Amino acid sequence: GHGRVAPYLEGLNPEQRAAVEALDGPVLVLAGAGVGKTRVLTTRIAHLIASGRARPHEILAVTFTNKAAREMRERVSLFTGSHQGMPWLGTFHSIGVKILRMHAELVGLRPNFTILDTDDQLRLIKQILQAENLDDKRWPPRALASLIDGWKNRGLDPAHVSAGESSAFAGGRGAALYAAYQARLKTLNAVDFGDLLLEALRLFRENADVLAAFQSRFRYILVDEYQDTNAVQYLWLRLLAQGRGNVCCVGDDDQSIYGWRGADVDNILRFEKDFPGARVIRLERNYRSGGHILAVAAGLIAHNQGRLGKTLFTDAPLGDRPTVIGVWDSQEEARVVGDAIEDAQRHGVSLDDVAILVRASSQMREFEERFIAMGLPYKVIGGPRFYERAEIRDALAYLRCVAQPDDDLAFERIYNQPKRGLGDATLAILHEFGRRAGVSLMRAAQMLIETEELKARPRQLLRDLLLSFDRWRKAAEEIPHEEAAQLVLEESGYIDMWKAERTPDAAGRLDNLKELVRSMGGFPDLGAFLEHVSLVMDVESADAGQRVSIMTLHAAKGLEFDLVFLPGWEEGLFPNQRALDDNGRAGLEEERRLAYVGLTRARRTAKIYHAANRRMRGLWQSSAPSRFIDELPPDHIAVEETEGAAAFGGYGVSRFDAAGFGGRYETPGSRRAEVFRQRGDGSGFGRAAAGRSFDGKAVVRAAPASGFEEGARVFH
Ligand code: ATP
Ligand code: MG
Repeated sequence: GHGRVAPYLEGLNPEQRAAVEALDGPVLVLAGAGVGKTRVLTTRIAHLIASGRARPHEILAVTFTNKAAREMRERVSLFTGSHQGMPWLGTFHSIGVKILRMHAELVGLRPNFTILDTDDQLRLIKQILQAENLDDKRWPPRALASLIDGWKNRGLDPAHVSAGESSAFAGGRGAALYAAYQARLKTLNAVDFGDLLLEALRLFRENADVLAAFQSRFRYILVDEYQDTNAVQYLWLRLLAQGRGNVCCVGDDDQSIYGWRGADVDNILRFEKDFPGARVIRLERNYRSGGHILAVAAGLIAHNQGRLGKTLFTDAPLGDRPTVIGVWDSQEEARVVGDAIEDAQRHGVSLDDVAILVRASSQMREFEERFIAMGLPYKVIGGPRFYERAEIRDALAYLRCVAQPDDDLAFERIYNQPKRGLGDATLAILHEFGRRAGVSLMRAAQMLIETEELKARPRQLLRDLLLSFDRWRKAAEEIPHEEAAQLVLEESGYIDMWKAERTPDAAGRLDNLKELVRSMGGFPDLGAFLEHVSLVMDVESADAGQRVSIMTLHAAKGLEFDLVFLPGWEEGLFPNQRALDDNGRAGLEEERRLAYVGLTRARRTAKIYHAANRRMRGLWQSSAPSRFIDELPPDHIAVEETEGAAAFGGYGVSRFDAAGFGGRYETPGSRRAEVFRQRGDGSGFGRAAAGRSFDGKAVVRAAPASGFEEGARVFH
């Protein structure tokens, strides 16, 4: 039209605007980091509503994290005002659970089903293996859990697992065990995380009327971070979108970082095939980062093969060069990062604009400790750390039993926690009785206390416990649910248990419990809170105030910060050795994409660290700088070394002239030495041996290997 441009369209560049205004039919926005893909999605929602094309509840928007959903909700409500209602906005999982609760009976569940976390899942699998007399040393529950997750991610139910794949566990019993596990979930009225997608897919596949209703309800579908959808998500989405065909997906193949969880970047290519006539829009102008940062990110990702290929440019000034900083060890790393943050703070940077992005969550603790010592406020985001803590899991188990008496796993967890004299023998009787009667443990207990089957003392103890639960359930209905939760934790003796434990960490645990109860106030009821907990991985502290964010690179997708710290760029840690061992070149490329994601989170400054020594699983190990550091375009980075790092002899300083490689090396005047090896063509670089001594001479032995060059690093 010729009227005034709607305010939400102002400031968009022509390509972004085209992507916003192409409302009908399939649209794929394929573009690099920071070009405004997410902004386009949000603006599309505003445009759909403002132009009268759709009412909010006719729009479905899928984000990758709950945090992203929340941010999008905030941005959308700025456009629309709250009176209009909101679109369906959330992760595939949260949308899956919402739809499943509406139609639970159709997939053999009751609407109040429980969502198990990985810990519950493992315990259940363990029980199933035990029942089948399978040795869990030889056939670890974890291995079966990961097979089952993999099958679910691919949309396979037990009937569709091939014999070949089934043979991967317990001599071909994989599929049967999977079936047993699914059956057990159904009797528990429970689902695991993977089921939220698999059952949602099954619901649509087996119920044409339900599918048709959702197809017509959601006139417009939008998907962010499309490159990380896995098969089951894709199949579900395709079913839904094929109704009206108004689907807009945005993604970046270079940011596909969940291959290990079944994400399949080929879904981008599949899109054009499955949605013929799809319009493909490319965005190339980056609005986020300075020129040096972009050049470094682009130079790094250029080492990957098989990319779809994209251009990125910016009009922004070159800005700061990313800095590569060598440090002595991981403690020094945490110290210098902390100092750099304080320094930035003095220069007016808000802590909310600072992030530390780690490859492995085990790297976090060192930063947390340092920041606590410095009094620097921080929060840990992504990863279920808070909810994984034992005291939190126990408290949640109590609450789950209150909300859902049939939740056996929760009941087992707290049945004798705190110790109330109820032993394994009684539990075994409950199990046996429950199995025979086809009822849950708590119902079995209810029935058993009326009989003579239990000895007098356990009978009385069980009766007390059941009476308490009756009281707590009543309380949960009558008083605010957070007060009820407090009551449960007090009356059960759970809080007293930690008070009685006079260990240093007991105080922290009591604080965590307080934090848990406090956070419940933000939810309408206990059910909503428990659902939130099972879905949400983000941890936020209740109090406001600026905080540094610590999170994994995986959790940082889609986010941006002025100042980004990237610690631990060392061989073995990043790229991660396991990714290389399991997936070879593909694994390496996914690690490199992760590095690309990390760098492109930075608006103004990115700092990369590599430590010469790191404690891994309690042992100090020396490490070589990540190969990714060598791949950064030298013209766009700055290199620094701390005094601590400069104190060692440097990397590859001396070469040994041993006849045939391998042997015993002595390096007088040093504390420690290591032998590194690589093939003539530069591949296969790695540490062959390390040694140390305390009498002024380090000794290192390396097994002979031909066709390699060896070099050493010496520590004085
Ligand atoms: P990622 O690939 O990391 O998810 P993205 O492509 O989704 O990035 P956005 O997060 O939407 O990018 O945008 C990056 C930054 O650029 C944001 O701060 C956003 O507000 C800003 N931005 C996007 N488009 C414009 C524009 N036309 N004018 C000014 N700023 C913009
Ligand atoms: Mg984005």
